[in-house]
Amino acid sequence: MQQTTTTTVSREEGIVHSKGYAAKEPKTALEPFEFERRPVGDNDVLINIKYCGVCHSDIHTARSEWRGTKYPVVPGHEIVGEIVQVGKSVSKFKVGDRAGVGCMVDSCKKCDHCLAGQEEQCSRTVWTYNSPEGHIGGNTYGGYSSNIVVDENFALRISPDVDLASAAPLLCAGITTYSPLRRWKVGPGMKVGIVGLGGLGHMAVKLAHSMGAHVTVFTTSPSKKEDARRLGADDVVVSSDKAGMDMHAAKLDFVLDTVSANHDIDTYLSLLKHGGAMVIVGLPTSPHTVAAESLVHWRRILAGSVIGGIKETQEMLDYCAQNGVSSDIELIPIQRINEAFERTVKGDVKYRFVIDMSSLGK
Ligand code: NAP
Ligand code: ZN
Ligand code: ZN
Repeated sequence: MQQTTTTTVSREEGIVHSKGYAAKEPKTALEPFEFERRPVGDNDVLINIKYCGVCHSDIHTARSEWRGTKYPVVPGHEIVGEIVQVGKSVSKFKVGDRAGVGCMVDSCKKCDHCLAGQEEQCSRTVWTYNSPEGHIGGNTYGGYSSNIVVDENFALRISPDVDLASAAPLLCAGITTYSPLRRWKVGPGMKVGIVGLGGLGHMAVKLAHSMGAHVTVFTTSPSKKEDARRLGADDVVVSSDKAGMDMHAAKLDFVLDTVSANHDIDTYLSLLKHGGAMVIVGLPTSPHTVAAESLVHWRRILAGSVIGGIKETQEMLDYCAQNGVSSDIELIPIQRINEAFERTVKGDVKYRFVIDMSSLGK
């Protein structure tokens, strides 16, 4: 019989008890960890987490590959579940609704970025994990856990008609790829390259295809060729195939680089036409080098992008529900999280691990 998670709220202080998995040091396995969340404030909702996606950023952070991780860290920012409590001023949700939480749980709400719906650009963004938590001090804890307390403005609505587990990765992988595709007006008549077919990459292929672009996938993994086409690619090139790469040189309008490891970006810049743009969303641990000549002579544009604002994330979730776009997932119990980390690093996941939080038990 499948177990379900329960959320216990202490009546005296309103403190919410949570259980999950945490990394306690950069090089040790994640392990069970119990902790407390802040009481549900007037503008907060309490979400019982049902599923949480495993993003490569969780791995970078758990292992302090970007440095600055504060331990223990509970990763997870592709959170979906059900509202079980609402604060008295909450208007967007009621108990029983589905809800999601992505990479942010708060921001200043007053600066130009926040007012423009770009909370991810605010200097006071509170990230879902490993971020100073303004309300009670200490650091935020993410979604590899039984529940989360969050300001309703940072919770997203999820259609009751979609499969909840496959919607989880949209909260990070979905918005991180949707936002630059929209900003660069990807659509019919455009030739688009997606570099790396992992969690972000496979969402980028599905989204760019659904927007009507001609999509070519560039992968280091010959074993992913068939999948790339099934996911919506018109063409697939294994990047070690020099002749294949040469055939696409200077042919693309737009390239999205989703690679998690250090790699040579000039190879992919050279795929752009005159004036074409390449956007980097992958966050390897070492800086990239770039040949200025490739940018200067060809007027190529090199840009970056980080997730997307709350309004755009809701727009993306609604777009995905309306257009039948969701993630290809491998559902795992939380007890297999360390194996999932290892397999993700090897590129051995089709195409996103999602943790079934009922495996936490009571
Ligand atoms: P992922 O599932 O592990 O996918 C990364 C893919 O990169 C792999 O599947 C692999 O695809 C390719 N790759 C791996 N090593 C490579 C290498 N040495 N050379 C070339 N390609 C290689 O990771 P993810 O969750 O999609 O995240 C990707 C990156 O984006 C991470 O660095 C993550 O931290 C970052 N990220 C950024 C944002 C943002 O807002 N900008 C948001 C989320 C994540 P192939 O097998 O097809 O080659
Ligand atoms: Zn992420
Ligand atoms: Zn702000």
